[in-house]
Parts: sequence; C-alpha cells; structure tokens
Amino acid sequence: MERALSNQVKDKIGQTVTIRGWAETVRKHAKVVFIDVRDRTGLVQVVCTEKLLEVANSISPESVVTITGTVTERPQSLVNVNIVSGTVELQADSITVESVAKTLPMPLNDRAVSEETRLKYRYLDLRSKKMAENIRMRHQMNQFLREELTKLDFVEVETPYISKSTPEGARDYLVPSRIQPGNFYALPQSPQQYKQLLMVAGLERYFQIARCFRDEDARGDRQPEFSQLDLELSFTSQEEILQVTESLFLGLVKKFFPEKTLTFNTIPRLTYKEVMEQYGTDKPDLRQDKTNDDELAFAFIIDFPMFEWKESEKRFDATHHPFTAPKPEWEDNFEKHPEEALALQHDFVLNGSEIAGGSVRIHRADVLERVFEFLGHNKEKIRADFGHLLEAFEYGVPPHGGIAPGLDRIYTILLKENSIRDVIAFAKAGDGRDLMMNAPSPVDDAQLKELGLKKIG
Ligand code: ASP
Repeated sequence: MERALSNQVKDKIGQTVTIRGWAETVRKHAKVVFIDVRDRTGLVQVVCTEKLLEVANSISPESVVTITGTVTERPQSLVNVNIVSGTVELQADSITVESVAKTLPMPLNDRAVSEETRLKYRYLDLRSKKMAENIRMRHQMNQFLREELTKLDFVEVETPYISKSTPEGARDYLVPSRIQPGNFYALPQSPQQYKQLLMVAGLERYFQIARCFRDEDARGDRQPEFSQLDLELSFTSQEEILQVTESLFLGLVKKFFPEKTLTFNTIPRLTYKEVMEQYGTDKPDLRQDKTNDDELAFAFIIDFPMFEWKESEKRFDATHHPFTAPKPEWEDNFEKHPEEALALQHDFVLNGSEIAGGSVRIHRADVLERVFEFLGHNKEKIRADFGHLLEAFEYGVPPHGGIAPGLDRIYTILLKENSIRDVIAFAKAGDGRDLMMNAPSPVDDAQLKELGLKKIG
C-alpha cells in the first residue's frame, strides 16, 4: 500500500491509506485507543477499536508505526483546527510496530527542559515542533539566498576546510599532519584568502555558505563553528556590495516574514563616528519600539578606523582584518596617523547585533605588505604566511571586495529565538562541548604517536 502523508489524508475521505511515523500520543479508553501519528508533515489521529485494541494499548509514545486504515470525516464538533488533518481521522485496519521507543529522557515541545538535556538528546529535541520548523526554515532561507545569488551571476565554490591559518582575530583550530610530522593544518577562521584568490582566478562573483572555525573563549552566544554567507565581487565598490546585501536580506524578510515591520525601507548607511557619538556603540539597536521583536532595524556602518590599539600587545591591530583597504586618501600615509586612518570596511547590524562584516580589499601587493609590516610582522613571516597571496597579486588581480553575513545569528533574530543554538541542528554547548557525541574527548596514545604528538602533564 502506498504511503500517504499526514497533510494528504484530508483529501482521501473514504479511501484506504497507509501512514507511517511516530506515535506522538496514545490515549487509552476502554473500547477505543486514539493514536496521534506524526510524520514530517504533521499529525493524523488514528482510531483503533476491537481486534486492534491489544496492540494499540501496547504502543509506547514515540514508537514508530505503520498503520493502514480508512479515512473518515470527523463530526463537526470534533474537528481539530490545530493539526493538518484535523477534519478527518483514520479508522485503523492494521498496525505494524516498526520499532518500540523507551520512555523518552525528556518531553518533546517543552522549552523548560534544560539545554544540556536538549543538546545531549539533540535527535529527540529535533523532533519538537519548533526545532523541526527552524531546521526546515533554515533550509528554505539558505535555498532562497542560493537562488537569488545564482540569478545575480554568483558562483558557489567550496573551499578547503583543512588549510592554513587566516587572521580573523581568533585562535586557530589546528589539525596535525601525520604525513608531514610536526606540521599542522589550520581550520579556516573564514575562507577569506580563498575567496580573494578566486577573484585573481577570474570568477568575479563568488559565494558559499561556508563553515568558519574560531577557537574563541566561550562567550554566551558563540559556537566554535558557525555558518556564514561568504561573498566576494570583483570590479566592485563598497556601495555595490551593500546593495547586493540589502536586496538579499530585504528580499528574504519580504518572502518569509511578511508580518514583520521594517524600521527603514531603505537600509541607512551610517558612519562609525556618528553611531559612536550618538549611541556609544558600533552596533546600535535602531528599532522604534525595542519591545517588539517583529520590528527589524537593519543598518550598515561604514568608515571604520583602519586600526585599533591593542593594549595587551602594545601594538595596533586591523579593526577588521589586514586585507581591508584604506580609504583612498589614506593609502599613502596610514602609517603616519594610524589612529585617524579610515578603512573601506562595512558592518551590517540588525536590532543591535552585528550580523555581517566585510570590506573592499587591498589589491596592491606593496600596500598589503606595508599593512603587515605596520602590524608588526617581519618580512620572513609575511612571506611564510601570506607569500602565496602576495605572489598571486603579482599576476593580475582585479579590485575586489566582499562581505560575510552570519547566518546563524540572522536566522536566530528572524525566528525570534534566544540563542544561535536553536537554529543549528547539532549545536555545541556554551563551553564548546558536543554533549551528544561527547567531544572533545581523549584519544589513544597510539594515535598521538602516529601524529608525532606527546601529551604533557
Ligand atoms: N572574512 C570576513 C569575516 O569572516 C568577512 C569579509 O571580510 O568578507 O568576518
């Protein structure tokens, strides 16, 4: 018998159908047992009587069942408007229990359950209505972004995860090489250098939903790995980068969240100086009514200082990253007045959160070398770490720039969740642990030896 999904049975009154899914609830009465069967599209109420009472009574919640029966209309008074098949029910003829579920360690659909438990039993948490919805919405929004960028002639390119360090201001995750003992790959903090090399390669318009890995101290809403919509364009301007970003995200909101209100129909471009003076932060919450989470205030912040003073290291560091171009008037003299030099950096903020950063890049090898030198890298270190990029820039590099919206954070705000963990299928706990897989975990000495590593302490 062909399977029918929950959302199809209302159109099959009088027909015999087979539904397959999880027994979400089993309600037992003397002469009838009701089972709400859940599949990926919703719930169907199944009515079990007579010869099926015994097996129906034995079914524990969340067991997996296959049930064949006849679809009948519910009397008007028993219609349930909350479920997709609420006007009908299935009179069961046969029941197969595919797998028996033990009592679950947590109730589904109860956000009062501790997050530890939800993360440990993530595969159960993902059965809950809200999490299942978030994961599906994430897919649809990713799909929308992919389609829109493809229409704009962007090409999705996957770049390596096992790679070399790229500075984004965090620590690297290192991967020891077995074949080249004593040498390490770094997991990319972002595909920054690859996307710039793709511009040298002539792609002109690149995007990728890329995973970024940053070993940062556990801080509230951070994950060791997160997803960004990484973009890069050649022969571009800062304004064009902002326009592409604006059309993508206003389009996304219009399509998926028509009920939300926008504080600004055209996203304002504000300078770092003006927002710092006016709001004391470079990620101001510009909503008119800050209690209303259906209001969205997007803004672009531009004209950032090129450098910031790092007191702990007694040196200047790049505010964004070292590849960020100075504004043209600062190209020749940023070293002379580093605290005043401005960069072609842009941040994208939403309701007080930074949701993207990017810049127009330095495409002249001599200027890039001067930036690295100013930041305190010596010539050998520059050659060792970035020689490939500097060399590439000697073979014809177009002017280019880009941006990288953080999808986890954006989706969290749009879906009105509290934490990015609620929009990531397999999220890690606040301290970076994967509670379900139990990672990180110790490894065998033999494995360490093979990698040429030794435990100390
Ligand atoms: N690579 C940058 C980041 O991850 C984004 C960019 O400059 O495009 O923040």
